[in-house]
This record gives sequence, C-alpha cells and structure tokens, in this order.
Amino acid sequence: MGLMPSPSRPDHHASQTAESPAVASAPSVTDSVSPGPRRRRPGLSGSRVALDHKPLWAKAAIGANTYDFSSGRVLPTIYERTTALALQNDAANLGQGFPDSQGPQWMLEQAAAAITDADVGPGNQYAPGLGLLSLREAVAADHQDRHGVALDPEDEVIVTTGATEGITAAILAFAWPGSEVLTFEPHYDSYGACSALAGASLKGIPLRGPDFRPDIEALEDAITAKTSLVLLNTPHNPTGTVFSPAELARIVEIAKKHGVTVMCDEVYEQLVLDGAAHAHRSILSVPGAKDVAVAVGSAGKSFSLTGWKVGWVAGGSELINHLRGIKQFLSYSSGPAYQWAVAEGIRDDRGYFAENAAQLSAGRDILREGLDAAGLRPNRADAGYFTVANISGVTDLSAEEFCTVLANEVKVAAIPVAALTIQHAAEPQDELQKLVRFAFCKNHATIEDALQRISSRLPAALDRHS
Ligand code: PMP
Ligand code: GLN
Repeated sequence: MGLMPSPSRPDHHASQTAESPAVASAPSVTDSVSPGPRRRRPGLSGSRVALDHKPLWAKAAIGANTYDFSSGRVLPTIYERTTALALQNDAANLGQGFPDSQGPQWMLEQAAAAITDADVGPGNQYAPGLGLLSLREAVAADHQDRHGVALDPEDEVIVTTGATEGITAAILAFAWPGSEVLTFEPHYDSYGACSALAGASLKGIPLRGPDFRPDIEALEDAITAKTSLVLLNTPHNPTGTVFSPAELARIVEIAKKHGVTVMCDEVYEQLVLDGAAHAHRSILSVPGAKDVAVAVGSAGKSFSLTGWKVGWVAGGSELINHLRGIKQFLSYSSGPAYQWAVAEGIRDDRGYFAENAAQLSAGRDILREGLDAAGLRPNRADAGYFTVANISGVTDLSAEEFCTVLANEVKVAAIPVAALTIQHAAEPQDELQKLVRFAFCKNHATIEDALQRISSRLPAALDRHS
C-alpha cells in the first residue's frame, strides 16, 4: 500500500480504487458503507463514507483517513507512517513535523530537577485537573502581554495533554451529534477523527494556492442551522498562512451572528517567520471573542519539545468549564514536572522564541530555494514548520504517488497534502492532489542532504515513472 489508504470510493478515484482490492473484500465494518454520490453545498467538501452505525474506533479512523478498507484495520497516522517509511528507506525525514533539536537546555534541566529533586517543583503526583496554577498564570499573563487579553487563571485556562487533547475536548464539548463542523481544508488530521467521535460531520472550505488565504465569505456561506463549531488553525499547518486581524475579527462576528462556537488551534503561535505578511494574533484578541471562542496552544511547538505533550486551552469561563467536562475524563491531568518547566519558559523564554524563529526562517529559505531549483514550486510559508510544493511542473504523478517514489527511490520522506483532506475527497483535478508538504523544522544539514538527494536522484526517478 502507498502512504494513503484507499477509502471505499466511487467514480473519479478509479485508478486508486482499481489498484486496491479493498472495496470488494471490505470487512464487516465497511459492509454498510455507501459512498454513493452526495449532494454537497457548492465548494464544500465533506464525508464520502457514511459513518452512521459504525463503532467509534472505525468512525475516528475513517474521519482521519487512518482506516484501511482492505484489511478493516486502523493504520498509524500519516505522520507515523511517513516516519516509518523514512526509517525503512534510510530517507531524510522531511515528513513528520518534529524538530531535530532538543528544546532549550535550561528547560530540560528544570523538568529533570522537578522530577528528581524533592525540593524543586510540584513533585510527581497528580497535577490538578485544570493543570498547575503556575502554568495557568503564565499562560494568562502571556495573553495579557502579547494580545491585551485578560484571562482569569482560575477558570479561563485549562492545561491539556498536548494541544491534541485540548482539540479533542473542544470538539467533543462543542460539536453536538448530528451537527456540522466547518474547517478550512487541508486541515490537521485529528479534526476529522474528533468530529466523527462527536457524531458530527466535518465540512471543508477550500484553502487554496497560490496565497492560501481563507475565504471568510465562503465560511459564512457554509453555515447552516446545523453548524455547531468552526475549527480554525492559525498559523496554519500545512500552508503556513497566518490569519490577519481583519479575518479573525470577521470570523468572530460571523460566529456571534450565527450562534456557533470557534476553536482556534494556535500551536504555531511562536513560529512566525521572517517576511510574514501578518504577525500572529490570537482569536481571543478580537473584542468579545472569549464568549464564543477558545484558543489552543502547545509547548511542543513553542519550545521544540513535542514529546512533552503540554498544551492549554484559553477562553471564557463557561466554555472552559464545558470543555473541562470532557478533558477531565480523557487524561484527567498529566506531567507536573513538564508543566512546571513550561510555566518557567512562558514566563521568560530567555530569547528562545526569537532564536528558534530565526533558525526556522533560515531552514525555510534553504528548503524553498532547493525545491524551487528542482521545479517543485514551494509556497511562501509565513509560519510554522512546513512548506507546500506543487509538483505539477515536473510530473503527472499524484502527490501520493510522488511521495512514494520520493521515499523509496530518492530517499526523502514528505507528506501528500491530500492526506490532510476530508476522506481524501479532493477531486482529481484539485490542486491539493499535486501538493506535497515538506518540513523545514530539521537541522539545516538534514535539509541540505535532502535537497542534494532530490537534485541528484529525482529527475531519473521521475523518468522511470513517466
Ligand atoms: N495542531 C496542529 C495544527 C498541529 O500541527 C499539531 C502537531 N503538533 C497539533 C495540533 C498537536 O499538538 P501537540 O503535539 O501539542 O498535541
Ligand atoms: N503536528 C505534526 C505534523 O503535522 C505531527 C504530529 C503527530 O505526529 N501527531 O507533522
């Protein structure tokens, strides 16, 4: 199998469906799958496979494109599959978004001391369900300093096990069964899984090149009486788009007008790069946003400590209280020593954010220049860890096929953006089928090695597949 499982689907994906024996021999969980043509509101993409009457594990997997229709089994995420493919091929891994570096040494030492020294930090028993007060206070003070937003650390901030748990709790809390959840597509994979778990259906509003600006009017047009929740992500994975203050203000206005809640995933908030069109603004910086929106953050991204899984959600006390109703039965709480060190880091980052953004900007520039020289047309990437490259100038292969050739023959791992769409529903002529996500949050030597492999091996590899 390639990087992406073939969903049971009709018509225009015939070539992939034909390659997959999946559909005919689908196991029992897929027996009732009826992927026939659906009426969609113009421009919206949505589920192709009906999720009703499936066990929750299958709904989540189908929602995040991790259900293998040929075996009836759940696959690892696209990120893990890509890392596995990279290891198998000894490939330069520009797939999964994690930095090669370790995060600031002083934070590692603080966490270590908090674990091993009884006189330092919060100890090793349960953190409070809302998270350590010191971290909630640090997050609140940071919102005040950077965005002028007053948050009460007692009930307007909740610490989560990574942003992932915050996103999960927000979707389960605010998307009611039978409702519709809107997001700009491509989007982060867990949005699909969690919408499915909530019994809601995720609808995608196209976010397309060359500029990847959100079409806010299209978002409003997509709202119906069934819409419960809008999922935003700024700065955006994978395009690097940073939403402007005007775009955020308009979204809050729309949310209030239509009575929908907004979850804004801001995990890349500290990773805005040189030359970006906009500085990052939190959704909460829009006056009155706290009543309708929550903002999700992650120490994993801000401090290059993805394994620590410390995240948080901020918003009005009622929304945070409702979210707590879910969160406290997901993990209850986690990692007090990590929370403690993150609180220290947020209170005073000792210059780390600027250093890290400069390093990432340089990596982005190296990668963009090399991909451009190879004819792969990378986008501008104002923020975050990734650039998306359009491969249509060098090959007729789909991005998925291209990524398989890239990993196996060129020895570079990257991610087809179509994996980050709703049930791979992008039409064959959609530019998403031609976009490949490359990560630049890696050592510059790794990026240069990958580019060297691309320039020396890619043309011949593509010739073999033309
Ligand atoms: N949201 C987005 C857009 C992401 O790219 C990621 C990946 N880190 C997450 C959420 C998850 O963050 P965490 O690792 O803190 O759970
Ligand atoms: N956020 C990372 C990415 O987009 C991966 C996170 C994960 O592996 N779940 O690559």
